[in-house]
Order: sequence, then structure tokens, then C-alpha cells
Amino acid sequence: MAKRLDKLNLMGLPQGDLEARFAEWGEKPFHARQLMRWVYQRGVTDFEEMTDLSKSLRQHLRETAVVELPRVIAQHDSADGTVKWLFESGSGQAVEAVFIPEPGRGTLCISSQVGCALDCAFCATGAQGFNRNLSLAEIVGQVWHANQTLPRRDNDDADFAVTNVVFMGMGEPLANYRNVVPALRLLISDLGYGLSHRRVTVSTSGIVPHVDRLGDECNVALAVSLHAPNNALRDELVPINKMHPIEELLSACWRYAAKRPSRHITFEYVMLDGVNDTLQHADQLAELLLDRPAKVNLIPFNPFAGTRFTRSSDDAITAFQERLRDRGLVTTTRRTRGDDIDAACGQLAGKVSDRVRNRLGEKNRRMATA
Ligand code: SAH
Ligand code: SF4
Repeated sequence: MAKRLDKLNLMGLPQGDLEARFAEWGEKPFHARQLMRWVYQRGVTDFEEMTDLSKSLRQHLRETAVVELPRVIAQHDSADGTVKWLFESGSGQAVEAVFIPEPGRGTLCISSQVGCALDCAFCATGAQGFNRNLSLAEIVGQVWHANQTLPRRDNDDADFAVTNVVFMGMGEPLANYRNVVPALRLLISDLGYGLSHRRVTVSTSGIVPHVDRLGDECNVALAVSLHAPNNALRDELVPINKMHPIEELLSACWRYAAKRPSRHITFEYVMLDGVNDTLQHADQLAELLLDRPAKVNLIPFNPFAGTRFTRSSDDAITAFQERLRDRGLVTTTRRTRGDDIDAACGQLAGKVSDRVRNRLGEKNRRMATA
């Protein structure tokens, strides 16, 4: 993302911060609210077009601030309606956002970091390593861009295409807490995107202290990447488990759920052939979650170049799901969407950096043979 260091980027700023900034400039707080409506609801980023702001305020904004978004480097449209964008994130890397339309809703899956440091064994993003946190503007910018690009629902001006947002793209959102929480606030703010708490989901591999903080500060829907029903296996698959083992993580989950008693926590479980997908694993998982505010979402593994895992068979996934249901757990299996555009976690961004590596590889080969 291009930087104009001398100017403040207003993209994603919480209402309170923006009002405080306007007060410093001697302006009334309601002008900050007008500006937010222009940016998020009407998609306007050029101060000159914000015609209900005075000329002098617009000039002051031009001199001191910008509304700057991440740059889109590619858009891919799947035959099934899934859309994927690549956003430039510096040093030849890209982050991705994926829009998944379904009857009655449109879910946008967004990224929070360039790469990820947590190194889960089955994850393409983890295999890339960690580069940096996305800024607040880069996080909210993904939603802004999707809503501006996609047709509004039912031709109603008020209804954006994106009705649900999930932090299930690249990165660990709770490792970028400082920027993710204001982004969440903006998504649920009436002056931002006005989404209900239930329609915004943070997915975490289990950074326990931040699960507690999130519960206090912004209790949106929570999904937890469990992936294994015992510590020995989870230590291997999700290494953060060595720091925050299953018991500690689950206790934090039940505390989180207790803050909004009507809500369940979703436990994500990637189905890896011969690794975590037997009926014994299902029984162990049921023991952990039974009679708790929990539901399970099974994710068929998405393979990527260089991985040692394969996807569980359809029969194994069905048997696992049935066993959990027989034990009384609400369980669903995620349908894979956007296969033709590699819309699953980490895949497309992985390809971009591969391309860069390949190019460098070719150059090196040419130099070696010259
Ligand atoms: N870092 C967060 C959110 C991003 S990953 C987390 O780990 O929860 C979103 C989901 O995709 C997580 O449940 C993650 O474990 C899962 N995932 C990662 N790699 C995958 C793969 N190759 N196939 C299927 N699911 C995968
Ligand atoms: Fe990071 Fe989530 Fe991938 Fe684990 S699964 S490496 S936490 S993005």
C-alpha cells in the first residue's frame, strides 16, 4: 500500500478517534459522523465530493488527511459466484479476501496479517512465514472494496452485498489485536457497516489472553481452530497449543460464551486423512464439547504444494460427522467453494509468492548458465 506518511489515513478510524481529531481542528463532532457516512455508506473517498462539509473543512482535510485503501492487484470470479481479490501488501506479497454468496447472505472472508507466525502444520499461510500485521485501513479496506465492487442486494441502496464478515483469510487476527478490534468496531458501528455482532466472526487458533480481552471489549462471534481432541496431537498440528493447551483454551471459550449466553462458539476441525479423523477422535472431541455452548464445523483439508497431508475421504468425513451428531453435538461440514479460483485459505496468495520465487529461480538459473 502506498504511504503518504505526512497525512493521517482516516480509513477505518473509530468514531471516537475521528470526533476527537475534528474537535482538535475546532470542528463539530457531527462532521466526523458525516464523513463516516460518505466513506462507508456511499463509498466516497475524495473529500471534494463530500458536499455537505464546508469548503474550509474540505480544504483542511485535503491538506492533513487521506482516505487511503489497499490497492487491488487482481480479481478472480468463480463459476459458482465466489469472488476473490488480491491486495498488494508490499515486498511482492499479497493478501486475499474472498466473497462467498449464498441464498440470503453474502460472506466476506478477510485477512488480518501478511503470512502468519503460528505455523500450523496443515496451513498454506503458515508455510509462508510471517511478514507483518495489516493496518486498520488495510483490514477495513477489504470490506470497503468488496462492497463497492459487488452489486448491492435487491437493488436496494441501503443493502450492501457483504452481510457477514469472517476473519478466516490469512493471518491470526488475535495476534494483530491492536488493529483487528477497531476494525470489528467499525464493522458493527451504525456509521460503518452496521453489521450485527452475530454476523462478524473472529477465527483464532487460540491466543488465550486475547480471547478474554475480546470477550470484554467486543463480543463478536467466535470460531476456534481446534483441529485435534487431545494435547499430544494438537501440539503437532497447532503449535500455539504448547503455550495454551486445550483445557486452558476451552476454559477461555466458556468464559467468552458466558458473556453472551445466547451464543455458541464454533469449533473448526480440519479433516486430515489418517491423522485426526477416526471415530475415536470424534468420541474424544465429543467428550470435550458435550453440554457446552459449542458447535462443530468440519473443514475438508485443502491441499497445497509441498504439504504432507491429504484430505479425509468423504466417507470418513460423513462417519465423523454422524458420530458427533449421535453424541448430541451440532455439527456441519464446510462446503468447498470457488475451487476453480483457488479460493480456500492461503491458496492464491501462496501462488503469487511462488511466482515471484519461480521468477527469481529462473533468473538465478540463467545467471548460473550464462
Ligand atoms: N488464524 C486463524 C484464522 C485464519 S485460518 C485460525 O487459525 O483460526 C481460517 C481457518 O482455515 C482455520 O480454521 C484454519 O485452521 C483453517 N485452515 C488453514 N489451512 C487450511 C487448509 N489447508 N485446509 C483447510 N482448512 C485450513
Ligand atoms: Fe496462522 Fe491460522 Fe494458518 Fe495457523 S491456521 S498458521 S493460525 S493462519
